[in-house]
Amino acid sequence: MTNVERPIVAKFGGTSVADAEHVKRVGEIVASNPDRRVIVPSAPGKRNKEDQKITDLLLECNLLTEKELLYEQAFEAVSSRFEGMGRGLSCHSPVVGWLDEVHKGIDAKKGKDWIASRGEWVTGQILARFLGGAFIDADKLIILKEDGQIDPLTYQLIKNQISRDCLYVIPGFYGKDTRGIKIFARGGSDITGAIVAKGVDAKVYENWTDTNGVMAADPRLVANPKTINELTYREMRELGYRGADVLQMDAVLPVIEAGIPINIRNTFNPQHPGTMIIDRRDSDTKDVIGIAGRKDFVAFKIEKTGMNRTKGAARQILQIFEESDISFEHAPTSLDAMSVIFQREQINGKEAGIRSALDKQLNPDKVSTVDDFSLICVVGQGIPAKASDVHATLFSTLKKAGINVLSESYSVNGNSIVIAVANEVFSLAVNDLYDAFIRK
Ligand code: ASP
Repeated sequence: MTNVERPIVAKFGGTSVADAEHVKRVGEIVASNPDRRVIVPSAPGKRNKEDQKITDLLLECNLLTEKELLYEQAFEAVSSRFEGMGRGLSCHSPVVGWLDEVHKGIDAKKGKDWIASRGEWVTGQILARFLGGAFIDADKLIILKEDGQIDPLTYQLIKNQISRDCLYVIPGFYGKDTRGIKIFARGGSDITGAIVAKGVDAKVYENWTDTNGVMAADPRLVANPKTINELTYREMRELGYRGADVLQMDAVLPVIEAGIPINIRNTFNPQHPGTMIIDRRDSDTKDVIGIAGRKDFVAFKIEKTGMNRTKGAARQILQIFEESDISFEHAPTSLDAMSVIFQREQINGKEAGIRSALDKQLNPDKVSTVDDFSLICVVGQGIPAKASDVHATLFSTLKKAGINVLSESYSVNGNSIVIAVANEVFSLAVNDLYDAFIRK
């Protein structure tokens, strides 16, 4: 494909294809830009709070067949959703045919991955028909190795099959390995979109969802946070890892590797330009672009006089956590102590075992825990250039609010500062920092 022909790959999430009316919106979005030539749908998600996702219903069908129980009621819920969609989009009779295939497969106990993937498969067929595009099944393109990694052959297959100047629909969420259909982790249509975008060398990977983009803070904590226009992959990784949940950056590694911009867009507000996530950002006028955070961390503090001179002490400590299957967030050290910080849920039931291993292997002076604190991350690639100013604003803001900082970590090359505060002042701290850095 020449540069001019580089297509846009547009992935539509579950709410964007929740019913016929929503699919019609998708149709308008696709038609409004002829470069949107590769479409990757999820399975229909919830239409309201009480609703069920199609994938959840299919997983229920699988569970029931595994237990030799009747699954008809769950399947009926799947069929009536899809049949309603078919009626609304004038393709009821083919939908009945596709559902019949799914039904037979469940009866034949084709397994969890096959059954769970059928939501995307039917949605892909419906969309291809409605949009007048070619349906290419994901199992013909996305080949997975035994360890779940993408087989490089995938990119060749995509290049070969998506070569003509026409519209393609590829269902999200699954590929194929030597045993058959293999699904990704939940929310995995993002992965399909990213693989396909890399394969066709897309000019943009659009991720259509139900929010305007990545917000500068969690809207559950801060009232009406701003949408970020532009941020880098690294900034997004920081924000995502620390709590912003629009897009899991690990899921879209293929486009990051290829340097393809990601555009988060809102199916229900398509005029909004959304958030652009790019490799490099020149517009560095803002030092801080977002504030993210999570509650419920625990720190183990291991004290031993002369730890700084004891070779291998840090390795021994971290190994104990590794052997307990705990991944840590930070491990700040001082002369005679090391703290290891991790999420509370990881430690449940393991505390006594860790303490006894530390006692036995390190013979420490003291082991103590600090519980119930939150980590807040202030993110922006402009921070290193103005680190003193940012620190000054950060600490003076928290001081004014009477909030004590339990720990702080910052690396000169990094584009974030992470601080720890008590759980009960988490929301206050995020709001005050938002006002100081973003709303200012
Ligand atoms: N339908 C799958 C899920 O519910 C995958 C996706 O929506 O991306 O997790």
